[in-house]
Amino acid sequence: MSLASDATVVLGTRFADDLPELAVRWQAEPAPAPRLLVLNEPLAAELGLDPDWLRTDDGLGLLVGTRVPDGAQPVAQGYAGHQFGGWVPRLGDGRALLLGELVDTAGRLRDLHLKGSGPTPFARGGDGLAAVGPMLREYIVSEAMHALGIPTTRSLSVVATGRPVQRETVLDGAVLARVASSHLRVGTFQYVAAAGELEVLRRLADHAIARHYPAAAEADNPYLALLDAVVSAQAGLIAQWMLVGFVHGVMNTDNMTISGETIDYGPCAFMDAFDAQTVFSSIDSWGRYAYGNQPGIAAWNLARFAETLLPLIADDQDQAIAHATVSVQEFPHRYAEAFRAGMRRKLGLRDNVSDATVDELTDDLLTTLAQERVDHTSFFRALCRDEVPAAFEDWASRWRPLAPDTAAMRRANPVYIPRNHLVEEALTAATEGDLGPLHRLLAAVTAPYQERGGFERYAEPAPEEFGRCFRTFCGT
Ligand code: AMP
Ligand code: MG
Repeated sequence: MSLASDATVVLGTRFADDLPELAVRWQAEPAPAPRLLVLNEPLAAELGLDPDWLRTDDGLGLLVGTRVPDGAQPVAQGYAGHQFGGWVPRLGDGRALLLGELVDTAGRLRDLHLKGSGPTPFARGGDGLAAVGPMLREYIVSEAMHALGIPTTRSLSVVATGRPVQRETVLDGAVLARVASSHLRVGTFQYVAAAGELEVLRRLADHAIARHYPAAAEADNPYLALLDAVVSAQAGLIAQWMLVGFVHGVMNTDNMTISGETIDYGPCAFMDAFDAQTVFSSIDSWGRYAYGNQPGIAAWNLARFAETLLPLIADDQDQAIAHATVSVQEFPHRYAEAFRAGMRRKLGLRDNVSDATVDELTDDLLTTLAQERVDHTSFFRALCRDEVPAAFEDWASRWRPLAPDTAAMRRANPVYIPRNHLVEEALTAATEGDLGPLHRLLAAVTAPYQERGGFERYAEPAPEEFGRCFRTFCGT
């Protein structure tokens, strides 16, 4: 099938060409009655896609994968992964497809990828489908993360398919069109390494270096440089999650990107009251992926990534292990540095304030926040106005004399995050056919630092009852 001649969408096949061993050519399942629920017009423009055209039948065909341009070659990508610590040798895109790569208006290569587009050979008995609610959740949270300045996959659209999806009840099916700098995961490397395919592994690593870390190609040991770069990118990413109170929920190795972008918003959520034990995922009964565990889990995942690279790092495996260990052990330091830099911004502390002072103020503040179970986001925003609850007065009396830059603080501490009760409200309304709350929530969270009249309720914490029982479900 070809697109209308006025729409010159070009979808590259670089992944499929470079790594045919990881790419299963596949087609999206037909959507009986496609209906556009939300379209990200600024992102479409960034990608050089005409939003008006995307709203046409042909455009919707692209967004659900049933009408792809000539030359495109949609594929399901193979990957493995550790899920909740347990090794699964074959996961892959069970309900997703890489349509191909676009060159955006800034000249960057971006994956155009679909989720919910029907079962693939990786479906492992799953139906290959997705429901409207979870796809809108990914849209909202990923776009909020982007607006917060946190690296993430982006969401281009959610299209309801008109196909029923059987979960606990029958739900409306949907396809999310998502954009990423790539969909390479730690699990992609694990898949190839476990198969013992050294030549493919080298090609995969070279592909990752070319796409994400071209400077590593010039290093003495490009594969060690790749590991180093991913360790740094992930340290920076996780620090940013922690600074905004984001809980990913399923930090399996297949959900950790090589690019350092947040990926796969399933049972994720933002914490309200500050609590390191916060878990939202209904399937995470041990709290493996609790808020406070995220840096440690990231380091564990990076150790799994490092293992895959050992045969490339050096012929002598003892030497390879020694090099890789040094690199992975850098994680806590880089994380601490990134977290401190973020806290410095959140607290408005200028360069003349020592690292030791920033750390001391941070530790004491987080301890009190945890003790008092204070709402994380609104605490920091109120601090921009020098308003703190009584329990924080001692702390504030040490912070205030450092002359915090409150204007800078307002650019570092969001007013609006996609709070769980607001996300649920928007999803429930959308499921019932009312897209108003979704669009209002998107308006709030896509300009998170800009306090606006009429959006007061979007800045408020959840009602008590809501927070205590809130769980997000993985049966997405
Ligand atoms: P996720 O939890 O979205 O990261 O997915 C974990 C794995 O399960 C991936 O291999 C997905 O492709 C697969 N998967 C999740 N839901 C489905 C589904 N409904 N049908 C087929 N595969 C699925
Ligand atoms: Mg996943």
